Amino acid sequence: MTILEGHAFVVCGPTAVGKGTILQEVLAQDPNLWYSVSATTRAPRPGEIDGVHYLFVSAEEFDDLVAHDGMLEWAVVHKIHRYGTPRKPVEEAMAQGKNVILELDLDGARQVRQSMPQVRQIFIAPPSWEELEARLRGRGTESEEEQERRLATARTELAAQDEFDDVIVNDTVANATAKLLQIFSQSTVN
Ligand code: 5GP
Repeated sequence: MTILEGHAFVVCGPTAVGKGTILQEVLAQDPNLWYSVSATTRAPRPGEIDGVHYLFVSAEEFDDLVAHDGMLEWAVVHKIHRYGTPRKPVEEAMAQGKNVILELDLDGARQVRQSMPQVRQIFIAPPSWEELEARLRGRGTESEEEQERRLATARTELAAQDEFDDVIVNDTVANATAKLLQIFSQSTVN
C-alpha cells in the first residue's frame, strides 16, 4: 500500500465562478501544491492543451480507466460529458509529499467525501447569482443551450454549498486566492 504523505483538497464551485483563475494563482504562489489533471470525454476548447488542462480521451479510453480501477472518482457533468480523476498520478504526488488539488463537480466531491473523508472540501461561490450568470454569458465560449445547462447545474451546486468545510466567495481574485492559501497552510501544518 502506498503511504500518502501529502494532503489533498477538493475544490468545487459552479461554472464560470473563476475557479481556474484562482487555482492558477495559488499554484503560482505555492510550489508544493500539485493540480490533478482530470480526464474528460469533452472536446478541447480553443487554447486548451492535452495533458495540461485535461487529458482529452475517447469514450473507450475513459471506459478502460474506469474498468481497471484507474479513477479515484468520476462523474457525468452538465448531463453530457464524463470527467474523472486518474488515480495513479494523485497517489504518486501524495507519496512525494505534494499537496494535491482536486477540482471536481458536486458528484465527484461527494464520492471523495465517502472514499477519503479526511480530505478538506472547499466551495467557491460567486458574489451573487446575477454576477455568475453575467460571467458565464460574458465568457461566450458556450452555446445558448450549453449555457442554460451549465446554469441549471450551478443552481444545484449552490444549493449544496453547506456540505463543504469552507465556502470562499470570489469577490476579487486576490481575496479568494489569499483565503484559499490560508486554508491550505492551516491544514498542512503537522
Ligand atoms: P469544464 O467543462 O468547464 O472544463 O468543466 C466542467 C466541470 O467539470 C467543472 O465544474 C469541473 O469542476 C468539473 N470537473 C473537472 N474535472 C473533474 C473531475 O475529474 N471529476 C469530476 N467529478 N468533475 C470534474
